[in-house]
Amino acid sequence: MSWLISYEAPATPPPALDWERLPFGRVFSQHIALAYFQNGKWDEARIQPFQDFRLHPAIHGLHYGQALFEGMKAYQRPDGTRFVFRFKDHARRLNLSATRLSMPPVPLDLFEALLRELLLKETHLFPPTLRQAIYIRPFYFATDPYVGVRVSESYLFAIFLSPVGPYYTQPVAAYVETEYSRAAPGGTGHIKMAGNYAAALISNPKAQAAQCQVTLWLDACEKRWVEEFSTMNVFFVWKDGRITTPALTRGTILAGITRDTILALLRAAGHPTEERDISIHEVIEGITSGHLTEVFGTGTAATIIPIIALHYQGKRYELPSTHPIAEKARTAYYELLSGNLNLNPDWIWKI
Ligand SMILES: *Cc1c(COP(=O)(O)O)cnc(C)c1O
Repeated sequence: MSWLISYEAPATPPPALDWERLPFGRVFSQHIALAYFQNGKWDEARIQPFQDFRLHPAIHGLHYGQALFEGMKAYQRPDGTRFVFRFKDHARRLNLSATRLSMPPVPLDLFEALLRELLLKETHLFPPTLRQAIYIRPFYFATDPYVGVRVSESYLFAIFLSPVGPYYTQPVAAYVETEYSRAAPGGTGHIKMAGNYAAALISNPKAQAAQCQVTLWLDACEKRWVEEFSTMNVFFVWKDGRITTPALTRGTILAGITRDTILALLRAAGHPTEERDISIHEVIEGITSGHLTEVFGTGTAATIIPIIALHYQGKRYELPSTHPIAEKARTAYYELLSGNLNLNPDWIWKI
């Protein structure tokens, strides 16, 4: 099916960008792409100036939480090639989230058409080097103006862009949360539902008080199995060369696309990798004995970030100050983005 996308131009020309000093997530595109689901179908897709929404105060998305998002990046290579990294995997995951929240799937061709049009209207946002990117934020929420818990019949799907530099500019220590839970089996930890992040925020002041920048979550039932950070997956590197990341089998971990990419890159480079349950006790024992040599986080926003220390039950455990595997993984990731390395041609969705 081909979609009719109407267009309204912004009144002012785009402002100049200071690429070397871009904060993360505070500069926005001049356009926003919108598609409305109503009367049982997708109709009215448009690209219009980026501006405030007018919303009915009773919309379901705000009251009952049918609200989700995605996060992906577009890049420009030195040869001028412009692409979105693993667009189709992000689109698939958006619809996995939608299905879990009883929301209608967003047709792939509608998503593709809206995103392509939006990026073509905002070509000045494509950064000069691969160190910067266009962060793409699709989001999707219920708009029925009705008080009462039931599946909404109307929805708004939207996409805006944000030119970004690095997410973390300083080393990161992780607070291991032993009181609260992020996700439980059968719940929503495996999707990018807006409410997951709200429920995780309560850990932030505890992390800050312990001089940590991120929270590392354990399983909800035993507070024993390591799951992930609030917005990143976690990897462990052992002295014998094995690289471990928690298995996705409980359904409580977000299946990160960066996680999957890094696993593929490490395997292609001959590193033995494993996806399995890993207890916090094994991790702490590994740090104190020296068998665990690196911990790093992966995610679209931060890409790959070494963890310098873990704070667990009132004690800080420092990790070695060199991160050779994280560095190697990051280098390979950038080789993939630059086109010098090609693992899967479907991963590069060209504009
Ligand atoms: C988005 C996210 C990640 C990282 O996923 P990517 O696809 O690599 O960006 C990891 N954990 C959580 C909870 C997330 O929301």
